[in-house]
Amino acid sequence: MAKPGRNDLCPCGSGRKYKKCCEAKERSQANGRMLMILVGAGVLAAVLVGIVSFSSERASGPTRVWSTEHGHYHDASGTAVP
Ligand SMILES: [Zn+2]
Ligand SMILES: [Zn+2]
Repeated sequence: MAKPGRNDLCPCGSGRKYKKCCEAKERSQANGRMLMILVGAGVLAAVLVGIVSFSSERASGPTRVWSTEHGHYHDASGTAVP
């Protein structure tokens, strides 16, 4: 089925022009879907960035320093590690 012209009567039978009737509705629906996709992509990106920063944080980790004086490890902040 061919798409109706924008200045033709709307196929839904409202008596209005297609551009003033269902085309506008379809367009707003498409915009809503696009917004949903963008929001979803943004959330996904944020989650991925969070995972990457979390894992890189774990990978670098706190550097342990052996204290011969105390006989145990210290981490970077200077607290004792059992
Ligand atoms: Zn219509
Ligand atoms: Zn110590």
